[in-house]
Amino acid sequence: LPVVAVVGRPNVGKSTLVNRILGRREAVVQDVPGVTRDRVSYDADWNGRSFVLVDTGGWAPDAQGLAAQIAEQAELAIATADAVVLVVDGTVGTLDSDQAVVKVLRRSKKPVVLAVNKVDDQRAEAEAASMWNLGLGEPYAVSALHGRGSGDLLDAVLAALPPTPPLDLDPERGPRRVAIVGKPNVGKSSLLNKLARQQRVVVHDMAGTTVDPVDELVEVDGETYVFIDTAGIRRRVKEASGHEYYASLRTQGAIERAEVCVAVLDASVPLTEQDVRILTSVEEAGRALVIAYNKWDLTDEERRHYLGREVELDIAPFAWASHVNISAQTGRHVDRLGPALQEALTSWETRISTGKLNAFLGRVVAAHPHPVRGGKQPRILFGTQAQAGPPTFVLFTSGQLEPGYQRFVERRLREEFGFVGTPVHVEVRARE
Ligand code: GDP
Repeated sequence: LPVVAVVGRPNVGKSTLVNRILGRREAVVQDVPGVTRDRVSYDADWNGRSFVLVDTGGWAPDAQGLAAQIAEQAELAIATADAVVLVVDGTVGTLDSDQAVVKVLRRSKKPVVLAVNKVDDQRAEAEAASMWNLGLGEPYAVSALHGRGSGDLLDAVLAALPPTPPLDLDPERGPRRVAIVGKPNVGKSSLLNKLARQQRVVVHDMAGTTVDPVDELVEVDGETYVFIDTAGIRRRVKEASGHEYYASLRTQGAIERAEVCVAVLDASVPLTEQDVRILTSVEEAGRALVIAYNKWDLTDEERRHYLGREVELDIAPFAWASHVNISAQTGRHVDRLGPALQEALTSWETRISTGKLNAFLGRVVAAHPHPVRGGKQPRILFGTQAQAGPPTFVLFTSGQLEPGYQRFVERRLREEFGFVGTPVHVEVRARE
């Protein structure tokens, strides 16, 4: 979805305007003094076009270097936006800190719509007209509090958004769905921002694809994916009670809707049970998996040594997953995510012909027959791939296989067919 950022110095009424656009009061979280909130985005629409509205109104820059800080924060929001609404206060006129934002906007070359807020009377209207001299085009006089002028403002915002580019997608298949999962604060939203900043694809009117408003189309390494429940990631949904419970429900839902999951782990601190639980959920759902060890920039040699041991201990059952060591912050190796996703999905979708499978099984059994137990030796008679996504094999045997032998066959299957990043299921049907 296209992103519209609302910027301006404190107290010009950004949050009130955002509320007005969203048409609901509760949308904006109460500001906590001294606490700098991250970007807060909301799904909004106007005249049938959906967009994401980013509210920078909760940002509370500290007193010193006010202008510079506002500019810096606006810069962040602007970098990710497709269009920007600059809000100025019609009762006060422009201040230095407004000018600082204007400078950033000019540099960004993003389309800007100028909103002159608090225009409640004639006198303010005259003031609004004087804002032409900011050089940002027509000033839109609004009263966020009373709702005046916000329709015209929104029309201007939509007109400023880039036209919806046609999507070049295989209509047969549609884009694959990706869920970014992980504990709070491991860097999911940072990673999403990093990826979405490079390439943002606009969804509008895409034939044959249903994209939920909570999802986003993002192009990674030339491939378009639907990122699942990005609203949940961007919005940092926090329920007052049972927060963890709802968060895990949401994660579970995202995993089930996706074909491939990116499990983000914080490499700079010890892994936890919660990390392992999330990986387990992905495996149990039978989804392809890429593990992203994030915050690599914060790891030193010692930490990496311990991480290696934690991985051996706790991540061993997920050795089949692909992994990347990244920094969502610096961008380090984020470009490796695309190839890892593609590799995992290719493995996940692989279909092995019955002939090829049985030729392989014949070789394995000949080289490593099942051990003889109690005078009996179960044999693999025939195998077939019952399903792809994830690859699921059924082996027909003359007796129950020992668990160790079954694991051996699974391992050989993986090696032979190069399954990386996907669970592989093997079912045994024993004819007794
Ligand atoms: P989320 O809750 O999983 O979405 O995590 P966020 O993306 O909000 O990140 C949590 C915090 O970790 C933020 O302060 C980020 O700036 C920081 N962070 C995220 N990724 C990295 C990284 O690769 N390196 C460093 N140093 N910090 C990071």
